[in-house]
Amino acid sequence: MIITISISQQHLLDLERISNECYPTEACALLEGTFKTINGSSDVVDDSNDEQADVLAIIRMRNADDSIYSFRIDSNELINAYQEISSRNKEVVGIFHSHSSRAYPSLTDKKYMELNPVVWLIYSTLSHSFAAFILEDKVVQISLETSAIQYQP
Ligand SMILES: [Zn+2]
Repeated sequence: MIITISISQQHLLDLERISNECYPTEACALLEGTFKTINGSSDVVDDSNDEQADVLAIIRMRNADDSIYSFRIDSNELINAYQEISSRNKEVVGIFHSHSSRAYPSLTDKKYMELNPVVWLIYSTLSHSFAAFILEDKVVQISLETSAIQYQP
């Protein structure tokens, strides 16, 4: 299962900015990147290997609900974004959205987590903090690792 998400400090700052721009409406974005197996035995390939989601890019999406309590990404926009990402040989490793309440999945979020079994990263504009979750029978908080800011020339 996915046990950690790695994201750069710059990407977290970008997500924070997007969240503040949309406030009080929920902001949303796709997290583009790759999964890698960690601390698993290399000669045994099974489903029990732990995985890390590495975020390499953020694709800002429009909240079609335009709501302060929920978010929804238009299905056509979602399909287009998934196609773009797969054309770069990357995957959607996570889904980001903001809450004006605490950074914990709502009942609606849990429903969509079943359909999208990736990392769910939430930023709370109330506590100014991030938290990442997966759904594994129940909601499990996973570790969030931040890498240093990388300046791109
Ligand atoms: Zn939510």
